[in-house]
Amino acid sequence: MQCLVCHHTMTNRSITLDLRVGEELIVIEEVPATVCENCGDHVFTPEVTRQVQATAKARKQVARTMVVPVFSYESLSVP
Ligand SMILES: [Zn+2]
Repeated sequence: MQCLVCHHTMTNRSITLDLRVGEELIVIEEVPATVCENCGDHVFTPEVTRQVQATAKARKQVARTMVVPVFSYESLSVP
C-alpha cells in the first residue's frame, strides 16, 4: 500500500493513538495500523476504527492512567 500523502510505501505495525474526547485526552496503545514511515500518516481498517470509537465512547477496561503535562505556548518565556 502507498501513502496517499507522500506516495511512500506503508507498512503494518502497532501504534499509540492519542485522542481528544471532549475535555479529556485518552491514549490507546498497540493499535494495529498501516503506517507511512516517511510522513507518519496512518490508516486503520474499518473494524479497528469501530473498536477505537467504541473504546473512546465506553471508557471501560482502562489499562492504566498517566499524568499529562499541559503547556501554554503563550506563557513560555523566550530566551
Ligand atoms: Zn507518507
